[in-house]
Amino acid sequence: MLNRREFLETFALAAVVPTLARQDRTNEWGSPVFDLHFHLRQQPAGNLAHLDGAGVTKANLLTRGRALDQVKALQAAAPGRFTWFNSDDATRPDAEQALAQAVKEGAQGFGEMKFHVAADGPELRRMYALAADLHVPILIHFQEVDHFPNEGTWSTGFAKTFESVLKAYPRTTFIGHADAFWANVSADYHNEAVYPTGPVKRGGVTDRWLGDYPNLFGDMSAVSGNTAMARDPGFTADFLKRHQDKLLFGSDCSCSDGRGAGYNNPAAPQMAGKCVARETLSLLKRSTSPVIFQKIVWGNAHRLLRIPT
Ligand SMILES: [Zn+2]
Ligand SMILES: [Zn+2]
Repeated sequence: MLNRREFLETFALAAVVPTLARQDRTNEWGSPVFDLHFHLRQQPAGNLAHLDGAGVTKANLLTRGRALDQVKALQAAAPGRFTWFNSDDATRPDAEQALAQAVKEGAQGFGEMKFHVAADGPELRRMYALAADLHVPILIHFQEVDHFPNEGTWSTGFAKTFESVLKAYPRTTFIGHADAFWANVSADYHNEAVYPTGPVKRGGVTDRWLGDYPNLFGDMSAVSGNTAMARDPGFTADFLKRHQDKLLFGSDCSCSDGRGAGYNNPAAPQMAGKCVARETLSLLKRSTSPVIFQKIVWGNAHRLLRIPT
């Protein structure tokens, strides 16, 4: 017998099953799409609603703490459409154990790692070492400027210290994400704006390190990734070409339907009511060639996570 909660979940999944057929049709983006940065939603049906609404084929679920049951239920409801990463409080002494267990259970990476610690501090350093030992990538949120009073900062010191981390952990696959990672495509960024706009000053550390370090990749999700690619079209075309094997599409979008419903980021009023996935896919599509577009939105993630296309 199903209890009431199980019954409701089963019912909710059954209601979305017919939409799975959509992935077999020609994709509206001209390429299948893998969303590297998709936060697991509490309501099972809500996950598929965003994928289907945005024209996304597969997504990587970002989970925190124990999430295996939810992940398995989704994978069963939509076979082949979900991989997953796991994160755990980096300040907890047993975080390594929890993450190693998640990898044993099928997690294909760590992330997102978003904690109020230094990017080169001891809490994250042990995670970098563990990721290398387990041969999984680690996805990190870098942010130096509050979005609201007293938010605090995350994985701090990116521009000043992260090169030493890239050098110290050559066997670790790092995936950079969020405000500080993307603002630093421009060499003139000094932690003043959340999402800087206007022409990019060439030679920013993110651009240089993507070129210099084979172990660094870029997650293009969120308003941060979108703004960085929207601010200077001439720069963007070259940047996508230069790093075509190092960039991965992601959404980090919280809209409910893959079409913008309910999206509201006070730090980015221009995105209100829009779907970040759709905005960034459109932007990438008009900024580069079909071959590079397909690498960024599909091929690179499969190579990095070692999953068949
Ligand atoms: Zn993030
Ligand atoms: Zn969305």
